[in-house]
Amino acid sequence: MFNINYFIDEEMEYDSEESDSASRRIRDMSDDSSDSFNLDEIPVPINNTFDVTLPATHSYLGPNLEELRGRTILDDGIYMNLPLLIKQTVLFPGQTLPMTIFNLQIINILKNCIKNDRTFGCVCYGNPIIHQIGTTAEIYEYREGSGRNGFHLKAKGRQRFKILRIVTPEHHKISANVKVLPEITLGPPFLDQRLTSLDHLRIHSDPEENVKKQERIENLEAMITPWPAWVYRQYDSTRLSMKIRQHLQFLEIRGGNVPKDPVGLSFWVAENILIDHDERLELLRYDCAISRLQRELKYLIEDKIYVCIQCETFIGRQSHMFPMNKEGPQGTYVNPEGVIHETITFYHVQGVTLSGSSPSTEYSWFPGYAWTVAVCKRCRRHVGWKFTATNSDLRPRAFWGVTRGSLKDKDLKIKKKE
Ligand SMILES: [Zn+2]
Repeated sequence: MFNINYFIDEEMEYDSEESDSASRRIRDMSDDSSDSFNLDEIPVPINNTFDVTLPATHSYLGPNLEELRGRTILDDGIYMNLPLLIKQTVLFPGQTLPMTIFNLQIINILKNCIKNDRTFGCVCYGNPIIHQIGTTAEIYEYREGSGRNGFHLKAKGRQRFKILRIVTPEHHKISANVKVLPEITLGPPFLDQRLTSLDHLRIHSDPEENVKKQERIENLEAMITPWPAWVYRQYDSTRLSMKIRQHLQFLEIRGGNVPKDPVGLSFWVAENILIDHDERLELLRYDCAISRLQRELKYLIEDKIYVCIQCETFIGRQSHMFPMNKEGPQGTYVNPEGVIHETITFYHVQGVTLSGSSPSTEYSWFPGYAWTVAVCKRCRRHVGWKFTATNSDLRPRAFWGVTRGSLKDKDLKIKKKE
């Protein structure tokens, strides 16, 4: 059995003026006699005035970054040599990666990339050396700084690749022969045995709006196959996407931009939902959105509880996440020292306290908000920041950014509010 401490702390609220009463309603849940419980709801912030497109521009890196035009698309299955950067975290296709680099060797590698196809490979530290599957990153903006300023760049995750052979295993200078992995897409499961006599009933426009009609046709089609229709539906990428998006409605309502297309969605979930590091590597391994979506569904069926990775103090819930970045509730940001923080925004957290330093707007990832370092109340580990609005018109007045690396999910079953 484990013991979670729940703190009643008005300072921890998203907005103490608006949710004052809510904070008092939080019950002490330290009695863990039941593994299925409900926490009282904290009101969701409304009337937000913040422009969520701003954090995605990473304006804290400064103005005048050189913009690179065009887009490099590598052929599926192609073999090539790719310079590699090894990171602590997984990069998914579609994810934005801002970086500030001070190491001259790495800067030279990147300058070389910019001259060529602007693409480098991003892989994770692993056991024994690095993980075999990585993602290509395409640089789309950069600025050469001098000395202490570092080299700034913004790149986008593009395609998955597999390392076949590491060419130069020198510290800071690694490249590899890789194979660019194809993304396998399968058509609707009944494509092969579909009854042409039912073609006039088929809905081609928006299947999400015509689920019932679609199901009736599928039931008829399944009758001439050995399995019932529900078996096929488990392998229908459109149907899986719909299910996932239903579970993500709480983010869409709060202004999240959840992708509709199954491939984009499967990577988006892996990036934005708090999933274990090993599990994310496993998701990156899959060649097909159907397998990724099937695996991801289980993370979304219940509301997850997140605790401090070090001392297991209760910190937040999945349903308290909200997007402060148009790309999703998780943003990847870089600090002035070049350290990358994958940061998830919550409108409410518990078990977290402020470090005592005064709020600063310097290098703020959310323009208009000042940050204060936040630490775990029990073990004092740095878990993230509280962001407070510097302008009285800005809503939300405050929110929390918690780093992915400081949280883990606790396998507790919480009844989801339908
Ligand atoms: Zn802790």
